Amino acid sequence: MDFLPFTRPSIDEETIAGVADVLRSGWITTGPQAKAFEAELSRYCDGRTVRVFSSATAALEIGLRVANVGPGDEVITTPLSWVATANVALAVGARPVFVDIDPATRNIDLDLVEAAITPATRAIIPVYLAGLPVDMDRLYAIATKHSLRVLEDAAQALGSLWKGKRIGAFGDLVAFSFHANKNITSTEGGAIVLPDEKDALTCEKLRLQGVVRSGEDGMDVDMLGGKSNLTDVAARIGLGQMKRLDEFTERRKVLARRYFDRLDPDLPVELPVADFENSNWHMFQVVLKADSISLDRAEFMRRMRDAGIGIGVHYPAMHLFSIYRRLGWHEGQFPHAERIGRSIVTLPLFPAMRDSDVDRVCDAIAAILLKARRAA
Ligand SMILES: *Cc1c(COP(=O)(O)O)cnc(C)c1O
Repeated sequence: MDFLPFTRPSIDEETIAGVADVLRSGWITTGPQAKAFEAELSRYCDGRTVRVFSSATAALEIGLRVANVGPGDEVITTPLSWVATANVALAVGARPVFVDIDPATRNIDLDLVEAAITPATRAIIPVYLAGLPVDMDRLYAIATKHSLRVLEDAAQALGSLWKGKRIGAFGDLVAFSFHANKNITSTEGGAIVLPDEKDALTCEKLRLQGVVRSGEDGMDVDMLGGKSNLTDVAARIGLGQMKRLDEFTERRKVLARRYFDRLDPDLPVELPVADFENSNWHMFQVVLKADSISLDRAEFMRRMRDAGIGIGVHYPAMHLFSIYRRLGWHEGQFPHAERIGRSIVTLPLFPAMRDSDVDRVCDAIAAILLKARRAA
């Protein structure tokens, strides 16, 4: 049987032909395709202003710069995310301040956010792990009450909703990722949705050396910018993917439902929140009940691989990485994030998966975990 990876992009032939056209066109870096991708994302986000970048990491870092977050400032975020979420705070000279997660949603626990606010706090970076948004009303109520900016790390949440509105179509700064493993991809890429059109020029400068052009031949550089523009080759892939986004999300939901139907309820695992209103089902993750089984996560993953199934880990709690330990963070501060970071696994879920693949995963998990169950 073929190896089943935990994720795999679906790039259609129309997109591949479109990329070939771009490659033959004579203009392959940032140009008309990137502009069209921004327009398409803007349309998707109810007409809000969007700028694209070479990654979500660049989008998030530029988002912090647009919000004037810098040295001496604090940014509140979750320890259970891809490390980019907090790294961008360090990159602009700010201090990431972690608070623990809600073990049910695995997202930042909004009950803990207010207690972490100090006079130096400038922004909150919530993450919608696996595409499940936080309570957006509550998030923005806290931000408004304390005059904080919100930079939504919605890297995993394109296609997710809150009370029927698309993530990105409302709120403050919202960043999306088009990394190969995300719900749509441009191979690598990212975008930011801006609440204020006037910040678009700043984003453009920050993504390309601070350059401002005027007329046919004029240019100036009035601030330091980096190099994080998206190529037209990548943007053309993103455009092809946007056409499929709703279909991909629907397919992910069908597969996620099947996991709930097929996973043995006696398995020693914690299931994700069964949210079929808001989540785009970027991932289907279960947490191994480490105390009830006699094998560790690495051994579980090895046995799944032996059964022809790829398993992902998203993510180890990031405050325990050396770079954050050196800043004073340590074991024992965020018990939920630490436990879940040690025991969470990502099961295969991607639009091209067959229903029978879900069944195969569920059977393999049952065979491995029911045997490894400790006697009570
Ligand atoms: C993927 C991801 C990022 C970074 O995206 P890139 O496009 O790879 O830079 C940031 N945050 C979260 C939560 C992600 O999943």
